Amino acid sequence: KPHIHLQIQISLFGDDDRLIVAKDVTRLHQLEQMRRDFVGNVSHEMRTPLTVISGYLETMVDNADDLPPKWRRAIITMAQQSSRMEALITDLILLSKIETGEQTINDALTDVNDLIGQICHDAQVLSGDKHHEFEIAINDQRLLRGDESQLRSAFSNLIFNAVKYTPAGGRITVSWSTDRDGAHLSVRDTGIGIDPVHIPRLTERFYRADPSRHQETGGTGLGLAIVKHVLLNHDGKLEIRSHIGEGSEFICHFPRERLAENPL
Ligand code: ADP
Repeated sequence: KPHIHLQIQISLFGDDDRLIVAKDVTRLHQLEQMRRDFVGNVSHEMRTPLTVISGYLETMVDNADDLPPKWRRAIITMAQQSSRMEALITDLILLSKIETGEQTINDALTDVNDLIGQICHDAQVLSGDKHHEFEIAINDQRLLRGDESQLRSAFSNLIFNAVKYTPAGGRITVSWSTDRDGAHLSVRDTGIGIDPVHIPRLTERFYRADPSRHQETGGTGLGLAIVKHVLLNHDGKLEIRSHIGEGSEFICHFPRERLAENPL
């Protein structure tokens, strides 16, 4: 079915004069859809050959002692880079799926307490030698209506970022609270912080506050874009607060309608 997309702008003058401008943005929507499809298709096509390459490289790395010494370094590097590329492709495919919002499951109930518990367990493994201190505070009204796998991606991106951008010994606080406005998931760290000039653009694909750092942190640059689209699919919003050198806080706000009564 062909759809027409209109962008409508209403300006009010005085008490009852208004100017209504309608712009046909159908073509723009089609182009945007084509871009999404293209990125999704290319990523899919690249995944299979890459899986084969990574598979062979991993086998070689597992048997590194059998490799000629002059190739060892090169093969280990190739294996690391191909696993980065796999992570990138996985995120690209995920992003192109959730960007349309069409496949979002909106009526499943997710127990935020269980979800956060599992993610923080994995985050502790990622933290490794950095020995971050984790603090988790979750209130009783913890059933959220939505797509569990999308919510898992969003929350784990925020919590893993807190680990990546916080030096050894720092504290990571994850809290879930509810009030009249809805539910709020806050991920706070005592890490490197973000210069305020970057904050408005952080959820753009591949935007990085410090491009020189992304090699060492090993992210795909798509994490916050994924978070933003997951929240859009759940009528939510992302708020970012940060002070350079002091730490950051990322808050996901969900409307009240997303909360379910606990069956207990
Ligand atoms: P990346 O894979 O680079 O981490 P993201 O989309 O997850 O990509 O994040 C975008 C950028 O936002 C990061 O490159 C980093 O500069 C900044 N950032 C995200 N989370 C934090 C955080 N907790 N502390 C400091 N900077 C952060």
